Amino acid sequence: MSNKAVILIVDDVPTNVQALALLLKEEYAVKVATSGARAVELAGQDPIPDLILLDVQMPEMNGYDVLKLLKENSDTAQIPIIFITGKDTVEDEEYGLELGAMDYITKPIRPSIVKARVKTHITLKQQYDQLVGMATHDQLTGLYNRHYLSDALDKKVSQAKRHREALSVIIIDIDHFKNVNDTFGHLTGDIVLKAVANIVYDSARKEDVAARFGGEEFIVVLDNCTAQDALVKAESLRSVIQALHPQDIAVTASFGVAQMDDDTQRYEDLLKNADTALYIAKEEGRNRVVLYEKTLL
Ligand code: GH3
Ligand code: MG
Ligand code: MG
Repeated sequence: MSNKAVILIVDDVPTNVQALALLLKEEYAVKVATSGARAVELAGQDPIPDLILLDVQMPEMNGYDVLKLLKENSDTAQIPIIFITGKDTVEDEEYGLELGAMDYITKPIRPSIVKARVKTHITLKQQYDQLVGMATHDQLTGLYNRHYLSDALDKKVSQAKRHREALSVIIIDIDHFKNVNDTFGHLTGDIVLKAVANIVYDSARKEDVAARFGGEEFIVVLDNCTAQDALVKAESLRSVIQALHPQDIAVTASFGVAQMDDDTQRYEDLLKNADTALYIAKEEGRNRVVLYEKTLL
């Protein structure tokens, strides 16, 4: 996979697209579209562009309409957009910027100016992505952090309620982890944490959220997943962790599983239920999976 930044070039005139593509294709991965509808489609597909160069005047769907649609979709709302257009009155420029465009370049284009502006906006986008990554991930393990988990789970609970879909969570707590630190030192403890986190990460599907919830606690949120399926998943994780022996240390973990039910009003209820099950797993001897049921209380 190339790690070049991705630029989407949109213009209804193919020769305009080609001129820009030729200018940028050495430094960037270039996607092209010759209609507004195709631009919206491509913008939402992997790899999501880091920048869009967008013509304003196009038949059917113009650049302003494309921009509005992209801003409405959370997958594409953050993509910076530069308008490239033959319209060059101050009012046009104002309107584009008000809608949320980052910049405005008028035709005929000057290659060196286009290159310089593109470079500036790509740098800004990469810095933005890096900050978002830091704000939503745990530094040690690279998993999502608690802050991100709370936001994501809150949304997932509302959505699952609305669509009457199954939603389950698994809470994972490493057993006697304090002993690992006490016996082998904190740095080795960190390596063990990372190794377990990698297992948790690898187990998650694309739509799942795997997060570090606290010190040696992890959470996996499973969309469209019943408690029975979550149990199978947790049991598999349990045996993989037991077989792992990171740094030649015997490590196990305990698991609490809970599925959203009619009594689950908020995401905190779901976490609390999973935590109740985890507590029982610890009580019953650790290295095991327990499913939350009301009768546990
Ligand atoms: P239990 O089986 O009941 O869960 O026992 P435990 O020892 O795992 O649980 P406890 O809550 O007593 O201790 C958790 C330990 O995790 C204590 C803390 O020092 C350690 N810990 C938390 N965060 C980190 C970290 O980032 N790195 C390291 N090395 N240790 C951490
Ligand atoms: Mg045009
Ligand atoms: Mg523990």
